[in-house]
Amino acid sequence: MKAKKLFGTNGVRGVINDTMTVDLVLNLGKAIGTILGPGKVVVGRDARKGGEMFARAAISGLLSTGCSVIDIGPAPTPTLQFVVPRLDCIAGIIVTASHNPAEFNGIKVMGANGIEVSRECEREIESVLRSGSYTIADWQNIKSVTSEKTAVRQHIDGIMSHIDTEAIKGRNLTVIVDSANSVGALVTPILMRDLGCKVISLNSQLDGSFPGRPPEPSPENVVELLRTMKSVGADIGIAHDGDADRATFVDENGTVVSGDQSLAIIASRILSIKKGSTLVTPVSSGKLIEDIVESAGGKIDWTVVGSVDVSHRVGEIGADLGGEENGGVFYPPHQSVRDGSMTSALLVDIMVKEGKSLSELVQELPVYYTTKRKMKIPAEKMEFLMTTLLDMTKDQNRITIDGIKIIRDIGWILIRPSGTEPIYRCFSEGPTQEKSDMLCDEGMNLIKKALTQS
Ligand code: MG
Repeated sequence: MKAKKLFGTNGVRGVINDTMTVDLVLNLGKAIGTILGPGKVVVGRDARKGGEMFARAAISGLLSTGCSVIDIGPAPTPTLQFVVPRLDCIAGIIVTASHNPAEFNGIKVMGANGIEVSRECEREIESVLRSGSYTIADWQNIKSVTSEKTAVRQHIDGIMSHIDTEAIKGRNLTVIVDSANSVGALVTPILMRDLGCKVISLNSQLDGSFPGRPPEPSPENVVELLRTMKSVGADIGIAHDGDADRATFVDENGTVVSGDQSLAIIASRILSIKKGSTLVTPVSSGKLIEDIVESAGGKIDWTVVGSVDVSHRVGEIGADLGGEENGGVFYPPHQSVRDGSMTSALLVDIMVKEGKSLSELVQELPVYYTTKRKMKIPAEKMEFLMTTLLDMTKDQNRITIDGIKIIRDIGWILIRPSGTEPIYRCFSEGPTQEKSDMLCDEGMNLIKKALTQS
């Protein structure tokens, strides 16, 4: 029987004390130390349940292979990524399950440059773990754990070095930050305050039961932020996911700005400053991004869906920007990985430079309508279902770089299996909401039909 792949789209994830266990993380620590060590490794965690338990397991595994460890404690993934090269480490591990529901936890592994390790390196780690062929250090070579308290401050200062802080200070903006009771609360409210904004924090108490809202910053999960925007009269609302590598924005009228739109605003400005530059984006991005990049005189480089693939591609071709439709923005002058706090600062900077409110910036963008749906699939049918779908759509105009993107005159449908959960996602885009919904229904019907044949 083929063993289930350990690494998904973005790291290893599972349900705490069920598929994600201390034994697994201990062995992952040993395997990571074996492949990437020996050397200094930085370890951090988000606010999830089991964070301390898994961080300690990973640390023990690393130490047993002769690595030394710098523990930065609770921190966003981008904070850990920022300090990996600056603390002169050979690798980084963050304990997080990003936007997954509260019962999940997981780990992401970074290389010496702070970017998630390559798929090939993931396979090597997995192979060592499966064979149990760990490098175990001699007793004399067991190293120690030190703690580092300045990681967050280093990260904030790094972001501020790319932003016109003086211009923002003069504007007296009010910002509401909803951190989902997780580690975004350690960076973005302080960053915004240091930029001279008035900051109101929501869900800023670190709590792994996520009492304020689920960790995914989707429109239905940020209703409290929407309500507060209206009652306070704030200029911008920022909602992070569980590890704050992403941000969803809300305008001054309490309307959610889609990830495509916030990326388009940032891409429009950055690509128009440097003509002919390239944006790296996954095949899930839509027509809006294509239009914006084209009118800014830039180019698009398409990738498979997944932040790791975008990060690697950004570095590989020296792109000026990377972005995803889910609100992930990669700004290479700062770091070539998603960074929700950096994205927030860029957007505030653009609002100030252009002298426009967030809703005004959104209104300048061409309008397309998107629909996202998902369907639970029995785990054993996940793989074969795609084979059936590929066969069923073989006569259609489509892109199969990742999942199936069916191109129609009025828009497109993208069908993809999730890398982290037993679900299939269906996205669509059209000139009206009705037409987009219609396309998405068509995609969902295709999945249902394929399911009966798989
Ligand atoms: Mg995340």
